Amino acid sequence: MFRYPSSSNAPRRNAPRRTAAVAALAVAASLAVPATAGAAPAPAPRTPPAKQPVATGYGGAVSTVDPDASAAAIEVLRQGGNAMDAAIAASATLGVTEPYVAAIGGGGYLTYYDARTRRVHAFDGREIAPRTMRPDSFVDPATGKAIPFDEAVTSGLSVGVPGTLAQWDLALRRFGTRDLRTLLKPAIRTAERGFVVDQEFHDQTAENEARFRDIVPTRELFLPGGKPPEVGSVFRNPDLARTYRELGRRGPRWMYGGGLGDEVARTAARPPVDPAAKRKVRSGLMRPGDLRAYRAQRREPTHVAYRGLDVYGEPPSSSGGSTVGEALNILGNFRLDAKDPATALHYYLEASKLAYADRGRYVGDPSQVDVPLDELLSSGFARERACLIKPDRAAPAPVAPGTPDGRYDACVPPGTQTRALAYEGPQTTHLVVADKWGNVVAYNVTLEQFGGSGITVPGRGFLLNNELTDFSLQPPTPGSPPDPNLPGGHKRPRSSMAPTIALKDGRPRLAVGTPGGSTIITTVLQILVNRIDLGMDLPHALAAPRATQRNTPQVFAEPAFISAYGRALAARGHRVEAFPGPPRDVIGAATALEFLRPGLVQAVAEPVRRGGGSAMVLTPAR
Ligand code: GLU
Repeated sequence: MFRYPSSSNAPRRNAPRRTAAVAALAVAASLAVPATAGAAPAPAPRTPPAKQPVATGYGGAVSTVDPDASAAAIEVLRQGGNAMDAAIAASATLGVTEPYVAAIGGGGYLTYYDARTRRVHAFDGREIAPRTMRPDSFVDPATGKAIPFDEAVTSGLSVGVPGTLAQWDLALRRFGTRDLRTLLKPAIRTAERGFVVDQEFHDQTAENEARFRDIVPTRELFLPGGKPPEVGSVFRNPDLARTYRELGRRGPRWMYGGGLGDEVARTAARPPVDPAAKRKVRSGLMRPGDLRAYRAQRREPTHVAYRGLDVYGEPPSSSGGSTVGEALNILGNFRLDAKDPATALHYYLEASKLAYADRGRYVGDPSQVDVPLDELLSSGFARERACLIKPDRAAPAPVAPGTPDGRYDACVPPGTQTRALAYEGPQTTHLVVADKWGNVVAYNVTLEQFGGSGITVPGRGFLLNNELTDFSLQPPTPGSPPDPNLPGGHKRPRSSMAPTIALKDGRPRLAVGTPGGSTIITTVLQILVNRIDLGMDLPHALAAPRATQRNTPQVFAEPAFISAYGRALAARGHRVEAFPGPPRDVIGAATALEFLRPGLVQAVAEPVRRGGGSAMVLTPAR
C-alpha cells in the first residue's frame, strides 16, 4: 500500500520564498539593453540563476526545469490564478528559456485534476501530419528505404502541424481563469529582458550548431555573433516577444487559419536554408489548410488502480498512459519488497519489457487505428502477461506482444514476432503545478529533438517541431506484423509522453512526468515504483539512478544504476549496459509533486540531471 515518507527522510524545509533564481532574473532584467535578437555582448558574464530541486509549502507549488518558468507559474498563482493558468504561463516562458524543447511550434499532452469535480482530464495537443502524408512519405523512391534519420529530423517533412496553441486554448476555455494575453506577460518580459545563459542552454546550442548554421533564421537567432551564446551572457528573443504580444491580441486563430499559420506552413514547405549549405533539407507537405484542420482533443484519461492509488495518464495518441498503466497492472501481481530492491527492479524491467511489446503492436492514433485500450489495461490481460515473468530469470528480449482479446486463461510463451524499437528522440520537457484549491497539472510540451527540425519561422522567434519522426518511417515488409504507427494524412504520431496524476480516495497525491522519448514511460514507472513500493520519498525517487527496458535485448542504465544493481540483475540474465545518450548518459529530466497532506505540497525537480530543475512553492513550510 501507499506509504507516506518517514520522518527520517522528511522533505527539506525552509525553501526560500524569493529564490536566487528570481533574484538572478532581476539582475538579468537590470542589464536590459535595447532589444536585439540573441545574446548581447555582455560586458561581464553573469552567474546563471541557482536552482532549487525541492520546495515544500502551501498555497501552490510548481516544478519545471527552469527557474524563470517556475517563477512565472508562481507569479500567476500569487495573483490568484489556478494551476491551469500557471502551467500555461510557465510553458510560454519555457518557450523563451528552453526554446529547443518548448515552443508554440510544437505540441504536447496535459493531464489535469479538477478539484471541484475530483475528476482527471486529458488534453491532447499532439501535432498532426499534413493531409497529403502517406505511409511511405519518408521512403526514398530511389532506394525503397526510409531516408536517413538525421536527414528526416532536419527537414520540412518532419514538421507536424503545431498543437500547443490549440491545446492552451482548449484547456484555458475549460479550466482556466485568465486569458492567454495575461498569461503570456511573464514570458514576454523574459523574452525582452533576456535570461542568463547557463551551461545546459549553451551545450544544447552547441550540439545543434552545425544544422542551425545552415538554416538562416535559426542561425541569426540562436548563433548570435556566429556562435553558441556564452555561459553568463544574456539571451534575448525580441521576435518571440513580438509574436507572443500579437498572439495575445489576435488569439490562437492567428495560428489556425490566420497569418501566423500561413507563415508556419510556408516555412515547413520551403525551409529557409542557406543556399551555400551542403546539407539536404527536404521540403515539407504542410499547407495552410492543414492548420485550419487542426483540433486539440479532450480525452478520457487512462486509469489503473495500483496499491491503493488511482493512477491517471494520457490515452492514445500517446502510449504513455496505456504503457505505464499496463506495466503497473502487471506489477500489481507481484510483491515488491523495499528490502530487496534488486528483485523489485527485476520485476520492473520485466513488466516494462512486456508492456513495450504491446505498445509497439497495438498503440497508434485512435482516430485512424483501432486501439484495444480497455483490454490493454484490463487486469485479465495483465495477469496473462504477468504469468510470463519468472522471479529469477529475465525473458529473452525482444518478447512478442500479447493478445488483448478478452480471453485470458492460459500463459502464452514469449515468441519471436517482434518489431525493433524505433528511435525516438530523448528531448522534451515536463512541468507540474498545484494550486491552493487542489487542482493539479502535469504537462509535457515538446518539439521532439533538442531544437526540433532546426527550422525557425523567420522573424517569429520560435522553432518548428520534428514530431513526425515519431512515426515508423519504414513501412513493414509483407508478412511482418501490422504497424499502428505508420505515417498518414492528419494522423498523430504515437507519443511516449506520460504526464501522470495519482489520486488517493479521490484526492491528488502524486503528479509526475519527464522527457526522454521512449524512456519517458520507464522513467515515470520507475519513479512510481521507487516512491510507492521501495519506500523512497519523492526527492529520492527522482534522484535514484535509472534503467530502461523497452523490449530490447539490453537493459540500458545510468552508471550509478549499473554500480548498484548491475551484478544482481546480470545474475538473473539481464544484459545491463550503459545508456547510450545521446549526448548524455542520463535518462530523463523529471518533475513531480506530492501532496504530503491536504494543502501541503512538495514540489520536486532533478537535483543533477540536465543541470537540475527548479521547484518553488508560494508559501514555504516552516
Ligand atoms: N517525441 C517524444 C514523444 O512524443 C517526446 C520528446 C521527448 O521527450 O523525447 O514521445
